[in-house]
Amino acid sequence: MTPAEWTTAEIELLTRLWKEGLTAGSIAKQFPARSRNAIIGKAHRLCLPGRVSPIKVGDKPIHTKQSWAVDRCRWIEDDPLINPTFCGRHTKGGPWCDEHRAIVFKSSEEQAA
Ligand SMILES: [Zn+2]
Repeated sequence: MTPAEWTTAEIELLTRLWKEGLTAGSIAKQFPARSRNAIIGKAHRLCLPGRVSPIKVGDKPIHTKQSWAVDRCRWIEDDPLINPTFCGRHTKGGPWCDEHRAIVFKSSEEQAA
């Protein structure tokens, strides 16, 4: 499956919905041709601001309890606000496992194209 390039209009829509605080799943519904992982990957690459950090939600820190091992994938599988779940697979030294690094780098190439 070859993902189509992100158009400027799509990036604008993604940015807007993301800043409005929609979940990745909800945003994905606006992009029938893209998976939720693709949405999250693109948002990661765009370093989209305006998203409340999961650490600041509620009174209890969610992520800070555990210190994350450097050889574990930091990819957040689900929406960080609703159900933050890290991939946690072993990596070869980077922050992501092979699968998720591929997603991040693919988005990067799309952005550069
Ligand atoms: Zn992973």
